[in-house]
Amino acid sequence: MAAFQFIAALGCVYLLGGCAVNPVTGSQNFTLMSEADEMRKGRDAAAEVSKAYGVYNFPTLQNYVNEVGQKLAKESHRPELDYHFTVVDSPQVNAFALPGGYIYVTRGILAYLNSEAELAAVLGHEIGHVTARHSVQQYSAATAANVAATIGGLVAGIFMPQMGGQVAQGVQSLLGITGSALLSGYGRSHELEADRLGAEYLARSGYDPQAMIKVIGVLKNQELFDIEVAKQEGREPHRYHGIFATHPDNDTRLQEVVGEAKQYVQPGAVDDGRKEFLRHTKGMIFGDSADQGIVRDNTFQHKELRFTLSFPPEWRIRNKPDEVVAISPDGDALMVLSLFDSVRGSPADLARERFRLGLSSEASSTTNNGLPVAIVTSTTQEGMPFKAGVIYHDNKAYLLAGRGDSPAAFDRHRSAISSAIESFRALSDTEKESIKALEIGTITATKGLSYAELARTSPLGVNAENYLRLLNGQYPEGEPVSGQIIKIIR
Ligand SMILES: [Zn+2]
Repeated sequence: MAAFQFIAALGCVYLLGGCAVNPVTGSQNFTLMSEADEMRKGRDAAAEVSKAYGVYNFPTLQNYVNEVGQKLAKESHRPELDYHFTVVDSPQVNAFALPGGYIYVTRGILAYLNSEAELAAVLGHEIGHVTARHSVQQYSAATAANVAATIGGLVAGIFMPQMGGQVAQGVQSLLGITGSALLSGYGRSHELEADRLGAEYLARSGYDPQAMIKVIGVLKNQELFDIEVAKQEGREPHRYHGIFATHPDNDTRLQEVVGEAKQYVQPGAVDDGRKEFLRHTKGMIFGDSADQGIVRDNTFQHKELRFTLSFPPEWRIRNKPDEVVAISPDGDALMVLSLFDSVRGSPADLARERFRLGLSSEASSTTNNGLPVAIVTSTTQEGMPFKAGVIYHDNKAYLLAGRGDSPAAFDRHRSAISSAIESFRALSDTEKESIKALEIGTITATKGLSYAELARTSPLGVNAENYLRLLNGQYPEGEPVSGQIIKIIR
């Protein structure tokens, strides 16, 4: 006990030794880190983030984001820092800052922004976290978040093997940590401070500080929409920015802190840079990139793993990092495709071993589309019937398993599950080469054009109409205005 107290006391001394002046408030802060430490930690973490996420290979876009970021950084409370602004290759909607001025936006978040001012607001908010040294003050929380985000990014980039559920479970819980750590990484007060600082940097750089409120609204609408989609798909909604309990329009504290930036607004006309922004983001990949596996018209195609399979029409498909999940229109049945194991014996042998099937052989081996396959019909531990295919392809064993939420539901969907298993096949070289990710394009709206009409020819699936509204900042009820440049996905 005494020894523990002694060590604790030493810790305090160290803390006091690390006390530094906060660049924003000018007051003394407890921090664990000197500025040199902060730089080094930032640099190390930045190397990991780049490795895990991958820098998005779109040089003109990278330059543009960096230019906007540097303009804001020059007007910040720590203009002397060496800032780095990077677009990472992730479809997730996210932005984050590491200590020392390393700031990241995903191509996923850029897709939903509609002007340079909104981009500046996202970057300004993250610069705010850096200048107020939030990540330094909460380094342990930030580290947890970064490490988890790194792993999440890694996982998102590959079609993760699901080794008997254990690895998958580990990944799941790590991703779970990501969410909560990012959520609690910065508290409400830090978020408000970053919003206040971001709005100030916006105003000082010639943007309308209200863009901060607008961009938070964009993220909030994302969240509201995802709650709807999550309900359809029977999953938990993503929480991009869980701290916004209310819509920003009704958030008086947020309105106040952003309102303070009025005093810094530069004289002269303010352009939100919508045209510039749309020009630079045109051609950007939307959603999964080709090497993450692509879903088109309920067909899943994986370029690198060289296979395709089709789920029944109207089922909802979700391409998750470690599995592809399909849910029946009524939500009463589910299919899951995963990378199951390495090839070992016949598919039936492997199925018997992994499902602990008795010798009475509920697994039969066959060949389908030239690939060795075992079809398994069995029941889960809770006694629920399921049907599964174990498919060998390129020295890997894939598992496509389907079940209902009741034996009756299973019966209703049994043939759909069989069809999906039978549809699994290798891709030809020509097919493989023709796999292309979706990308952002623009059109000029003609009179009377509606999102419903655009949705009919959109590859975005059942929720296309609202996706298009979100992408164009017109969720939940807006319609294109004649002459307006509209983002579409093609
Ligand atoms: Zn933040």
